[in-house]
This record gives sequence, structure tokens and C-alpha cells, in this order.
Amino acid sequence: MSDPTEESVRSEARAWLEANWSPDLGLVEWRHKLADSGWGVPTWPTDWYGKGYSDPLGRVIEEEFDRIGAVSVARTGIRNLAAATLLEHGTKMQKEKFLLRILTGEDTWCQLFSEPGSGSDLAGASTRADKKGNKWIINGQKVWTTSAHHAQYGLLLARTDWDVPKHKGLSYFILDIEQPGVEVQPLRQMNGHASFNQVFFTDAVIEPEFQVSELGDGWKVATTTLMNERRGADGLRRYAKATEKPGRAYAEEAEEIAHQLEPYKWYPQRAGRVDLVLQRARETGKINDPAIRQEIAKLLTMSKSTEWTARRARAAADLGLPQGPEGSIGKLAASNVARKAALVHTMLSGADAMLTGENSTMGGVIAEIFVSTPATSIAGGTDEIQKNIISERVLKLPKEARTDTDRPFRDVPRNIVT
Ligand SMILES: Cc1cc2nc3c(=O)[nH]c(=O)nc-3n(C[C@H](O)[C@H](O)[C@H](O)COP(=O)(O)OP(=O)(O)OC[C@H]3O[C@@H](n4cnc5c(N)ncnc54)[C@H](O)[C@@H]3O)c2cc1C
Repeated sequence: MSDPTEESVRSEARAWLEANWSPDLGLVEWRHKLADSGWGVPTWPTDWYGKGYSDPLGRVIEEEFDRIGAVSVARTGIRNLAAATLLEHGTKMQKEKFLLRILTGEDTWCQLFSEPGSGSDLAGASTRADKKGNKWIINGQKVWTTSAHHAQYGLLLARTDWDVPKHKGLSYFILDIEQPGVEVQPLRQMNGHASFNQVFFTDAVIEPEFQVSELGDGWKVATTTLMNERRGADGLRRYAKATEKPGRAYAEEAEEIAHQLEPYKWYPQRAGRVDLVLQRARETGKINDPAIRQEIAKLLTMSKSTEWTARRARAAADLGLPQGPEGSIGKLAASNVARKAALVHTMLSGADAMLTGENSTMGGVIAEIFVSTPATSIAGGTDEIQKNIISERVLKLPKEARTDTDRPFRDVPRNIVT
């Protein structure tokens, strides 16, 4: 069967939304309708709440949501990584139990990957999962775990075999966070917010049916999660805008945003706020300074070319082409733009860029940019790791020397007692 045309999808979506959307519905009730009809996640498979449409058709439907002002399914944060991972690797039972509540926003998820001894070297994870009877018993520690303080479930990468090379001894689990063996401790960042945590496991329990994919397949499953993270699937930008329009669904969505997204309100600042640069240059009169104008021009050029690179990657994906170098350089480019934007903002605001609080420049936003942009160079894989990926996989340069991949993980020297 050939793909439906853009016009037919647009008119079908429009007709369905006009017949079904009402701001007076409860938020969860409306999202159930979206899941049941396939219009909430049209790019998902038809068996699982979608319509199997391509990304470009998905965007046409989003335009129709925007046109009528309908609230979407819950699409912020790490729940998107959980959905993408479970759609690809989850069992039928796991999809049935978790996907719908992800879409309705009833469950929040976190990603339990990084550890004190393994962030960039993710495959060096030492959190252990041991089989006792038919259950998995988890011991160890994770860190930088965004959302763990209000999550119900975590995507856990844990070591199940110490006698094989490190990438082969990992397994992937769904962990119930709200159990006695899990202790979540929030961490305060230098920008004053507390969006991530350290998480300790002491004989935490996982039922066998919450193992994702086969035993020892954890690295493969984690790669799916990470690929979606690097494509920005866990972003908060587009779907996190509350509206003051009247109606129960809008009010409940605004409450959800205020409650669940409060710890992440610094996220726009971590990208550098290029959108504020010209406004600030005019307000401060620095637009007339030739040296600063040069820096603004460089920043806007970098930002535009990064955006075009992202668009090329999207166009290639829409045509069904394999991911090219655009994908690999996107994250690094975003990090360079964020760093440059922080520099330009400090040139524009001078010493005021260091002031925080309501009475400071733009209510503290400029200072927040300054202390939040470093996150962009770290989260989801650091700049150095992106450079390694580009040099080894895109440019085919010789691989980094490794001494830890050809022996049992048990024999790999490391600084954590296990
Ligand atoms: C905002 C934010 C949110 C995050 N959320 C989560 C989350 O939800 N879940 C989660 O599991 N983790 C999360 N992280 C953690 C993040 O994935 C790690 O911080 C990141 O992978 C780096 O690991 P690390 O901090 O252990 O640094 P390390 O790996 O110790 O790196 C330290 C330095 O050494 C460099 N380096 C390391 N290895 C190499 C190499 N081979 N070649 C060259 N240089 C190298 C790094 O680039 C870095 O500069 C988050 C981080 C941030 C900033």
C-alpha cells in the first residue's frame, strides 16, 4: 500500500481533532483518546498507539495540533528515551505495561547509566545485578541521574557477568524506583537548580520479566537509548510551554509543567540563548562596538550553519538514508554554539553577567546562561567523546589505544571496589 498523501493526512487529522478535541476534557482522559486513535504518536507502529507514518507526515499532524491548540501526549524528558528503547527491544508485556502510561504522562522515567567510575566509559559500569532465585538483586551506585527524584521507573544498565569483556557482561533492566532498596539523593548544581541525583542500590529487587532483551545484551539496548538521546529525543523545549487559555486540559497541563518541569527551567539557558543576543546588543548599545559586532556575527554564523546541518540530517532521515556525518557533528556543534553564546552574552553584559536574582540583568537569565552552558558539552557524551566518534567512525582515523576490551572485566584495573 502506498503512503497516504500530505493533504489526505492533514484533512483526516483536522477532521478528527475538530470532532474530538475539547479543552474541557481531563488531561489523562484526552491523552487516552490520543493513544487509542493513533493521532497522539502517528509515527509509532500501528500495533502500539501509532499509525506507522513517516516523520514528515508526523510533522504535518503536529501543525494541525498547533492550529487547533490541542494538548499533545506527554512528550518531555527521559520518558521519550524509555519509549524509543521499549518499542525497539521491549517484550509485549513491557510495552503493554509501560507505553500507555508514558503517553498519558502518568509515569516519569530516569536513565540510570552514569556511575562515579564510568561516565564517558559507560561500558565500564560496575553496578551489579545478581540472580537470587528468579529475581535480580541490584547493588551499586549511579550518578547525574536526571529526574530520579520524581521518577517511578529507571532504565538501568548493570553488570551481570564479570568474566567476559566489558561490553559483553552488561544487561538492561527496568527498575522500580519506589522501593526500599533504592535511595535517591538530589545534587545541587552550580546554577542553583537540582535536576539530577545520585542513586544508591542496596539489594534492590527486579522481577525477571523486567529484564529488557537478552542477558548480556545491555550494551546493544543502551546504544538505542543513547542514539535517541543524541538526537535530542529527551528534549524539553517544544512541548513544555504552558498556556493561560481557559479549559481543564490546559490547566492540568500547566500544573504538570509547573510541577514536573520546574527543576529543568534552566534548560533553555544551557543552549546559550542565541535568540536573546541581538536584543541584548541593542539594549546595551554594544551593537555599535565593532569588536563585539564581529563576535556576534561569528556566533550567528555558527548557529545558522548548525541549524542547516541539523536540517540536512533531518532531510536525509526523511528520505530513509542512513545517518551520515551530520548526526555526529550536531551535538559537538551545539556545544560550540552554546559556549560562544555564553562568551558573547558576557561581553554584552560585562560584570553584570555575574549578578543573579530578580533585580539583576534579565532577572538572572544572563548569569544562568554563563553557569549552565557547560552542561551542553557534557550531557549525552562529552565534546571529547564526540570528537573521538567523529575521528574514528566518520574520518576513519586510527582507533584510540584500548587496554580494557580484550580481557574479562574482572581483570580490568579500576578504582571502584566490587
Ligand atoms: C545536564 C546533565 C544531565 C545528565 N543526565 C544524566 C542522566 O539522566 N543519566 C545518566 O546516566 N547520566 C547523566 N548525565 C551524565 C553524563 O552522561 C556524564 O556526565 C558524561 O557522560 C561524562 O561522564 P563523567 O561525568 O563521568 O566524566 P568522565 O567520563 O570522567 O570525563 C572527564 C573528562 O575526561 C574526558 N574524557 C573521558 N574519556 C575520554 C577519552 N576516551 N578521550 C578523551 N577525553 C576523555 C571527558 O571528555 C571529560 O572532559 C548527565 C550530565 C549532565 C551534564
